[in-house]
Parts: sequence; structure tokens; C-alpha cells
Amino acid sequence: MTQKLDPWKSSEISDYAKLFEEFGISPFADVLSHIPNPHKFMRRGVIFGHRNFESIVHALNAKKPFVVLDGFMPTGRAHFGHKMVMDQIIWYQQNGAMAVVGIADREAHAVRGLSWAECKRIGVEEYLISLIALGLDPNRSRLYFQSECLPVMNLAFELGTKVNLSELSAIYGFSGETHLSHMVSTVTQGADILHSQLLEFEGPIPVVVPVGADQDPHIRLTRDIASKMNLFLIEVRKDKDGKNYFSVRGKGAPEDSFLRIETQLKARMKTKFTAKVSKEHMDIFGIFEEADEEILRTAVQEIELELGGYAFIPPSSTYHRFMSGLTGGKMSSSIPESNIGLSEDPKSAAKKVMRSKTGGRATVEEQKELGGEPNKCSVYELFYFHLVDDDNELLQIQKECESGELLCGTCKKNAAEKIEAFLTDHQEKRRIARERLCEFGIQY
Ligand code: SF4
Repeated sequence: MTQKLDPWKSSEISDYAKLFEEFGISPFADVLSHIPNPHKFMRRGVIFGHRNFESIVHALNAKKPFVVLDGFMPTGRAHFGHKMVMDQIIWYQQNGAMAVVGIADREAHAVRGLSWAECKRIGVEEYLISLIALGLDPNRSRLYFQSECLPVMNLAFELGTKVNLSELSAIYGFSGETHLSHMVSTVTQGADILHSQLLEFEGPIPVVVPVGADQDPHIRLTRDIASKMNLFLIEVRKDKDGKNYFSVRGKGAPEDSFLRIETQLKARMKTKFTAKVSKEHMDIFGIFEEADEEILRTAVQEIELELGGYAFIPPSSTYHRFMSGLTGGKMSSSIPESNIGLSEDPKSAAKKVMRSKTGGRATVEEQKELGGEPNKCSVYELFYFHLVDDDNELLQIQKECESGELLCGTCKKNAAEKIEAFLTDHQEKRRIARERLCEFGIQY
């Protein structure tokens, strides 16, 4: 059965591997070995897929600037599922990225009908304060609310000229019942993702958006619109003999712009380069001995910008698995027992862990004989996703569980203590973070 991804409902993804063929998401394992000091979510396969992460790998290795961008829809309590995204934002920032984080208040207003004041309160109290408490650096970050960021709203309006109702329906399944502001929120998301590349911010720059797989429709739409907004379409490919070809096609670009591109490339490309400009077809084809894609793209971008156009690099994305709920099934903000909130009382959170669903057997004797099943255990997931950074320690828990040496009572007590200690510390950091909001430009 074909899976349906819906960014506004907590989709349960039955088969992550199928997303590779159904939606063209690439396996993250293909790029993992090229990432310096990968995050534990990368090492452990929590992040399982990507689109165009190669450009971020290049930026990480070459220590070139890039942006990590994410957004939070302020509809309820931020929990450990949201912490997964916050952890990734901070990891990218610590590895050289500018962190740009938007509070999707327009989306929350349009999709859930929350008042603007409530959107702001939840956005600050639940999301931004925890993000700062987890270690966001104010010197390399920009936090904003969709409704207060004029460049996002203006860009969203322009992006709207490149997408029609049929396309939105194909991607999101919209029907005649879908109201207009819900549709507008899709291009607002696109503008969130692309606006950092406007000249008034970072200019054309690689951007990575770490998301759960259910958010892929926004990524697909935005990547598609980004190409349509640009004056030139650049394609680079390698043939079976190892030759590198590129083509630059223009839609409505001035005739002489292709000659300008050719002149620029001849002056800049380090490797032997031949090109053919076709005024008739408004394109330029070239062969070069070694792919020097960055120089090619930079030269074309500069001319694009000189001509007053956009030069968006299609955004990269990564996709992570979802944590299960503590009660089994989905983790959901609307089911308090299924999740642990970042602002929740530490003692009540510890009690939830003690009540949570495990992969233990029916009796102690059975567990000692057969061992537990950590792959079916929400407590093990807490260790795996959040509570244990050391891979060897995690492996030890898994082995002791599977051998029957470790019993669920002891194991849950260990997890509950770790959760209580983490939340006690986090909430002290939240108290300090609240006083530092103005360092991040947030008036509240
Ligand atoms: Fe889960 Fe721990 Fe029980 Fe194993 S021993 S099933 S990891 S709670």
C-alpha cells in the first residue's frame, strides 16, 4: 500500500525503507562515512534518509558556511520528540552552521485556529526557551516568528506565483474543502526554508532542514519552487566514461547572459573546460575534466543576482525516525501519558517512565530465560534517542536486556532517574534561558 505523508497529522510510517523508492529519499548510510564526528542520531540510524545532503557534507568538511533551518508549530507542549530536532539544530551550529529557527505561528493559526497571542506564548515558553536552554549560541543564530518576518511573508507571496492548486492537491491531498489560509501556509513554509538565501540575509548558501519524514511534502514543494524561481537551471552529470557534463538553461534570461556565463567560467574554472553556447535554444553545454561544480554554480548565481533574479540552492534535508509513545503506539502531544514534556515536573515524568510499556516478558522467570526485547521497548528508546550518549554503554544495556541479565524494574528505575536528573537540570537552564531571550532578539 502506498504511504501517505501528512505534515499536519502525526503520521505513523509503516515502512521507512519504502520512502526511498516512493518519494526518492536517499539512504543516509550512503553519506555517513563522509561526515566528521557524526551526531549520535546519524551513527545510530535514527536519521535514515536525506535529500542532497552531499552539499552539507562538503560544507562540513571544507568548513564552508551553511545554514541549519527548522521551524516549530506552536500548538502544544514541547516534548522529547521536539528535543530531537533541537539537538540536531545545536549539533549543526556547533559544527559551523548559522542556525535559523522560525516559530510557525501563521501555520498554527491557519491549521489549528489558535489565537496569535497563544501562538506567541507557546512558541516562546515551550520551544524557544528550551532550545536556548539546550545550548543554542546567540552569536550564530536568528530566531523569528513567521507573522513578524516581513521578508518571509513577501517571499511567500512570490513563491505563490510558481505553484497552483493542482500541484498542492497532488502533494498534500488538498480538496475543495481546504481553506485558503491553509494553502498559503504551504508557501509560507517554503519561504521559511528559502529566505535565508535572500541577499539581505546570507545570500545563496547551502541550507539543511532536519525533519521527521512526515514533513517531506514541504521539502519536495520547496525544492521544486526553488528551481522554478531561479533564472537558470544548472544540471551536472557524469557519463559512463567518467566525463563531467554540465548544462545551464535559462527561462527568459537575456541572450547575452549565456555569453557572460561562458566568459566567467573560462576565467574561473580550474580544469580544462569547453562549452557551447546556443542562442537559439538559450542554453550552454560544457564538458570539464573534473567536476568543479561549486565554481560553476557560484558564477551562474552571481550573474543571476546581477540580473535581479533569485539564485536559490535547493535545500537539503534529513529525515529521522519518530520515537514511540511511552504507552506504545504513537507519541502524541495530545496524549500526555505518551510523552514527556521538556517543561514537565521531573518527578511526575519519572513516574511516567515507571509506568511505560517495555519489551519485557510476562514473568521474571521467562525474562531470565528468554531475555527482553529492546526493539519493542519504549524505555530502551529513551536510552537510544536521548539518555545515553556513549554507544558502548547503550550496547551494554541492549546485551544485558537480551541475555535476561537485566530486568525491567531495575532498567526502568535507571531510566526514570536519568529523566528526573535531566529535567531538573534542563529546567534550571530554562530559568536562565528565559532571562536571556533578549540576547536572541526575542521581545516577550
Ligand atoms: Fe526494556 Fe530494559 Fe526491560 Fe529490556 S530490560 S525490555 S530495555 S525496560
